[in-house]
Amino acid sequence: RLRGVEKDIERLYEAVPQLGSVFKIEDKIGEGTFSSVYLATAQLKMGPEEKIALKHLIPTSHPIRIAAELQCLTVAGGQDNVMGVKYCFRKNDHVVIAMPYLEHESFLEILNSLSFQEVREYMFNLFKALRRIHQFGIVHRDIKPSNFLYNRRLKKYALVDFGLAQGTCDTKVELLKLVRSEAQQESCSQNKAPIVMANKVSEGSVGLSVQRSVLGERNFNIQSSISHESPAAKLIKQPKPMDVTSRKLATKKKVVSTKTVTSNITRKAASTCPANLTCDCYATDQVCSVCLSRRQQVAPRAGTPGFRAPEVLTKCPNQTTAIDMWSAGVIFLSLLSGRYPFYKASDDLTALAQIMTIRGSRETIQAAKTFGKSVLCSKEVPAQNLRTLCERLRGTPSLAVEKQEDHAHESTLSLRTDQNLKLPPHMELPGNSFHEDGGDISETSVNKHQANLKGWDQVPDEAYDLLDKLLDLNPATRITAQEALIHPFFQDLSL
Ligand code: ADP
Ligand code: MG
Repeated sequence: RLRGVEKDIERLYEAVPQLGSVFKIEDKIGEGTFSSVYLATAQLKMGPEEKIALKHLIPTSHPIRIAAELQCLTVAGGQDNVMGVKYCFRKNDHVVIAMPYLEHESFLEILNSLSFQEVREYMFNLFKALRRIHQFGIVHRDIKPSNFLYNRRLKKYALVDFGLAQGTCDTKVELLKLVRSEAQQESCSQNKAPIVMANKVSEGSVGLSVQRSVLGERNFNIQSSISHESPAAKLIKQPKPMDVTSRKLATKKKVVSTKTVTSNITRKAASTCPANLTCDCYATDQVCSVCLSRRQQVAPRAGTPGFRAPEVLTKCPNQTTAIDMWSAGVIFLSLLSGRYPFYKASDDLTALAQIMTIRGSRETIQAAKTFGKSVLCSKEVPAQNLRTLCERLRGTPSLAVEKQEDHAHESTLSLRTDQNLKLPPHMELPGNSFHEDGGDISETSVNKHQANLKGWDQVPDEAYDLLDKLLDLNPATRITAQEALIHPFFQDLSL
């Protein structure tokens, strides 16, 4: 255990002393912007020692946000691969959520050793969790591998982290009605206040220029000037596979956003709440009125650009559970292509440009029109065939050599390369010469090769059909979790 971790554990015991009487905190297992997660053991009277995950939320989180996260877990959690909650502790502004601990893999580490069958099961179980939360009108908004815990050996799965969740219009989670996004508030209150976004776009960068809205429509002007060559060629050549734009330039961009958000909650000074947080009601369904009135202290959070659906990237005000299905599609794309992260973008427009290189620019523009956004793109890029794309990215020996030369891009690609060197299953991909020139192929070596392929030589069309339906640019026609579970791809898996 590191010294820093030891300090953090000490501080957590101090901040929430009641933890000490129940848990022995062993280690820190996660640290994000809005929380830290610890592994603890609990010796409950008579029972066996239990492993517990303790999520310590940052004290600056809005009380409603905290309570809503907890309510998602209590209402929808505990079944269908959705993480449940055991206890919740609070002292002053410190809140700790105690959940059953699920030991899990690192997605990146196992990505290239998964069999095709395991990928099928993984996606099936993810859809089970999504169907469950969507039934409750919960939009998770941060679906990505680190929020879907996977224990490979036990074949156990758990969707976690409702820290960004929002409710649909008819959500069954009461507190989610209070955490609507600014965009949603805007569309709900029919607030047509113009949104002015100004932005310095450096030459050659992917830029966004937004004119004052006409009929609520905004114009996005994407200049993907870096992609002069065909995106297919770039996929092979470019080290970070999907990074078609210059991040340096993108970060120079300054977006100024002024908007009036009307709120029907009376705002009182936070100082009227002596403890900064007055309610002890996190385990119940209520938040006291003083907490309700507490000012939002932190900027609205956002998920990970690479997993965001086009309607999220273009700030479409009416976002539905379909956005989680898009993110599930991006995970599936990683699983099928063996690349993670698939889209690597530091901002929304870069992410949108990257989506275009896969799904096509005309197609993206067309879909955006259906949800009232006009996207301008200076360069036309064609949609790619998903099977061709994934098979190519999964790799062939020639690709592996090329990739190995890219020293600058350690994580994703060199791991991929190692895999290729240790276990070259891609040599036997259809279309290669293995079966034709193999004079010395004994039956055992064929079997061995088939075992190494782990089913990747026989990916059925259904897989790419499902992927296509998940990565549907139009949220209105995108497949739902319920529908995905009965897609032919999952034919022999039972619910
Ligand atoms: P954050 O909002 O900081 O992302 P999460 O709820 O996603 O918080 O938790 C962060 C990490 O902690 C997860 O990616 C996972 O590795 C670990 N974690 C969270 N909950 C559990 C749990 N119940 N069991 C095991 N690990 C967990
Ligand atoms: Mg998380």
